[in-house]
Amino acid sequence: MADSTPARPAPRPAGAARRPGRARGEGQWALGHREPLNANERIKKDDDPLNVRARIEQLYAHRGFGSIDPADLRGRFRWWGLYTQRRAGIDGGRTAVLEPHELEDEYFMLRVRVDGGQLSLAQLRTVAEISERYARNTADITDRQNIQLHWVRIEDVPEIWRRLEAVGLQTTEACGDSPRVVLGSPVAGVAEAELVDPTPALDEIVRRHIGSPEFSNLPRKFKSSISWLADTPYEVNDIAFLGVEHPEHGPGFDLWVGGGLSTNPMLAQRLGAWVPLAEVPDVWAGVIGIFRDYGYRRLRNRARLKYLVADWGVERFRDVLEKEYLGRTLLDGPPPELPAKPVDHIGVHPQRDGLRYVGAAPVVGRTSGSQLAELADVAATAGSDRVRLTPYQKLLVLDVPADRVDALVADLGRIGLAAEPSAWRRDTMACTGIEFCKLAIVETKARGAELVARLEERLGRAELGDAEISIHLNGCPNACARTQTADIGLKGQIVVGPDGRQVEGFQVHLGGGLGMASGRAAGFGRKPRGLKVTAEELPEYVERLTRRYLAGRAADE
Ligand code: SF4
Repeated sequence: MADSTPARPAPRPAGAARRPGRARGEGQWALGHREPLNANERIKKDDDPLNVRARIEQLYAHRGFGSIDPADLRGRFRWWGLYTQRRAGIDGGRTAVLEPHELEDEYFMLRVRVDGGQLSLAQLRTVAEISERYARNTADITDRQNIQLHWVRIEDVPEIWRRLEAVGLQTTEACGDSPRVVLGSPVAGVAEAELVDPTPALDEIVRRHIGSPEFSNLPRKFKSSISWLADTPYEVNDIAFLGVEHPEHGPGFDLWVGGGLSTNPMLAQRLGAWVPLAEVPDVWAGVIGIFRDYGYRRLRNRARLKYLVADWGVERFRDVLEKEYLGRTLLDGPPPELPAKPVDHIGVHPQRDGLRYVGAAPVVGRTSGSQLAELADVAATAGSDRVRLTPYQKLLVLDVPADRVDALVADLGRIGLAAEPSAWRRDTMACTGIEFCKLAIVETKARGAELVARLEERLGRAELGDAEISIHLNGCPNACARTQTADIGLKGQIVVGPDGRQVEGFQVHLGGGLGMASGRAAGFGRKPRGLKVTAEELPEYVERLTRRYLAGRAADE
């Protein structure tokens, strides 16, 4: 099979590994380590994962699940947004002991990338139809502005791609060691406070680089965020561009690199560089190029860009970017101004053109094909032709004339998408969890919905006042729903229940927040030693914790 190595010659090495313990190298291409050092690297070298699409269309979709080569099934399929889903009935205690084939079902999760969270109603209707026809009416909005479908059969994948691509959507590189969906402000192009709409740069990156062999073999995933407003979780991305005004050169973007969560969370760091809109795609390509060439490929758990940035430091990283990848120096720039608290856009807000946008909340991102179809109908009735997904598992309807807002809010409520949600519903997120995820240890979506309902009953607006308490439920240590950045972050694990039996539960992280939260410095939640809660006790625990917090809360907290 073809070697997936890009044609570009390896750049001049920027230095050897720093610590003596790494003398045998981290598998960095730029330092000459071209032979795969683990099974994942081998799969990518043996055949560019993008090539698996032809086999799906020409072979697997006709011959069925049993015909799929395991290296494609559990490796390359991800580059097209496909993961096998978890077989029903396997409890979380067995996740770590079973073989992959014992855990997986013959159905797939299919992730549709929605770069910038931007969807026309035609696109929304197409996703809704696909969900109803091919995915048992499932559709989850993720905290990276994707839509995930479940119960997809391999036989239906080519037709799903045909329908998606006919309206300009794709699943290309929605998963895998590749450039994932690009986060964007859900109000890009309409926000009153936005000086530059970054959508042209975001579109250019997707057009030039998604599905290109140039970046289809990265050490691991590469997450991006491009927004004028600080309304995405930019600090936990591999690269982030955040709007800032340069005193001499005007509006542009501040460049951050090396953020990421999972088991060793790190916040992105500023390179101190100011990038004008037109140069964002080239700088993005330079940074991902460094990751491809210098990123660590020996150990999967050290293969994110954050480890390279941590080892190099920002000065060296910027130096390599400028000298080896851009061939010029970047302008220094000031830091961006951050809002005093998280911006989630829920409720009714003015656009800069005089129209309104309305933000609404499904519960923990769970929706369905039929609900998305209803959403398209009520948005059209309100005069809108587009919606946006948010990185908090919520959605917006844009371009609503002021005199149609009340009717839209009522319609959204009627179809189960509250534009005036409780604080609990607004601030709670949950990852996929044990229902479909093979790595999960505990249930999350249904538990998150139940938690929201219980807290709405017991701690209403009268008790909460203006307190906003974010809760992020995660089914395992991978932190897909950003465990460490919530006021109450929950990491799924098996814990010992009151009767001594092992049951589903969570390790608790407290007090996390990103830079935009509360105007304080960004920080991850603390893991008070031994603080674990069983899943059954969770609602009472959160209620107790909240009441204690409210009783002792400082006036400006
Ligand atoms: Fe699956 Fe774990 Fe990610 Fe949840 S956090 S979706 S359980 S990998």
